[in-house]
Amino acid sequence: MTETVAPDNRSFAELGVPARLVATLAAAGVEKPFPIQAATLPDSLAGKDVLGRGRTGSGKTYAFVLPVLARLAASGTKRRPNHPRALILAPTRELATQIQASITPLADTLGLRSMTIFGGVGHGPQISGLRKGADIVVACPGRLEDHVQAGHAKLGAVEITVLDEADHMADLGFLPAVRRILEATPDTAQRLLFSATLDAGVGVLVRRFMTDPVTHSVDSARSPVSQMTHHVLHVQPDTRLPVLVDLTAAPGRSLVFTRTKYGAKSLTKKLIAQGVPAVELHGNLSQGARTRNLEAFSDGSARTLVATDIAARGIHVDGVTLVIHADPPIEHKAYLHRSGRTARAGAEGTVVTLMTDEQVRDVRDLTRKAGIAPKVTKLGADHPLLAELAPGDRTYVAPPVKQEPAKQTAASPKKPARGGASAPGRRPARRGRRRRSSGQQAA
Ligand code: AMP
Repeated sequence: MTETVAPDNRSFAELGVPARLVATLAAAGVEKPFPIQAATLPDSLAGKDVLGRGRTGSGKTYAFVLPVLARLAASGTKRRPNHPRALILAPTRELATQIQASITPLADTLGLRSMTIFGGVGHGPQISGLRKGADIVVACPGRLEDHVQAGHAKLGAVEITVLDEADHMADLGFLPAVRRILEATPDTAQRLLFSATLDAGVGVLVRRFMTDPVTHSVDSARSPVSQMTHHVLHVQPDTRLPVLVDLTAAPGRSLVFTRTKYGAKSLTKKLIAQGVPAVELHGNLSQGARTRNLEAFSDGSARTLVATDIAARGIHVDGVTLVIHADPPIEHKAYLHRSGRTARAGAEGTVVTLMTDEQVRDVRDLTRKAGIAPKVTKLGADHPLLAELAPGDRTYVAPPVKQEPAKQTAASPKKPARGGASAPGRRPARRGRRRRSSGQQAA
């Protein structure tokens, strides 16, 4: 195995990317390769097995999407019903959807077909998509295995496989499924593996399935991107919510992490009740709700997304200026992955961790292991630091009225209106930089 760090100034064309793909990339504003792309493309385009190790937001997606497309176009094998020619495995539906979005315009240029396969949505369209013939399948392991077992997906014609966020797949317990899927692909297939870290579980996959892989570590897995600033806010239990409300009511997108699905749901409700348009993302939601909420966050109708680790891993929304760990994560890797949602692709970002008295020790361990030295400040909801961390006027929106008042009083007289959630006039007592907007709706 060779380990390389390659500061490379070559263009996509000089690295070997086919001209039609270069033109499509340029049309999307992607002109100069990012380091992980410059480092891996010569090997991956040459058909070698590659281990790409790069931080979140480093441009990993094009680093594997481009060789997949270029190799399929060059091999010229015809697509056949139920026989995908390339497999890209991703841990979450959101990530699979985002990978597919990067692939589509490029695949169209080459006349290749790509489709997604994941759980939480109907089997029917996936089965007919496979039957029609797909060159590339972007899949989460569980549902793909269902289709393999039912005979709808046959993996004997796979020419190239990608594992994206392999460490996360390991964390989620997908390794047995990933192993079975890889075993069903030909030994001769090219394999690319991308991961922020190459820990134990990933190492097993590498040894079993990769042939003489070239490792490219473009950035230390320990160090978060340089434009990120890290703060720990030491709060009291009763100031935690007002501090969160103040930070998320500022302009710009914020991503708030909680430890549990219940925590995400409950915090979302509280933020909405306080006038912050927020949406939730966690494993208890239907696929439809996850997609809707993520869209609301992407299109700006909700500027705050409250998520659990698993749901948020790998999602990519541009312009997240603030990541808030409302509950500090247990693990330093989770801290880095959560924080990696901001300051993507060279942008700037602020990371805030809320810490209560009992969490002081855990947070100290966490930040040490993550290799960061945050500024710790003890504060309440009207501390001037909050305006520095999340600058700009705070905007509060009337929470949506959930039920028809007439029905509610007639049919369920015992049920009082819930604490502030349907009282548009009620506002948190905040300092005076508040602007009201009633046009926005919490999605
Ligand atoms: P990723 O780490 O693959 O999720 O990419 C992070 C962001 O960087 C995405 O918005 C990509 O579209 C963008 N990106 C990736 N490569 C490049 C590039 N070479 N030039 C400009 N933007 C890029």
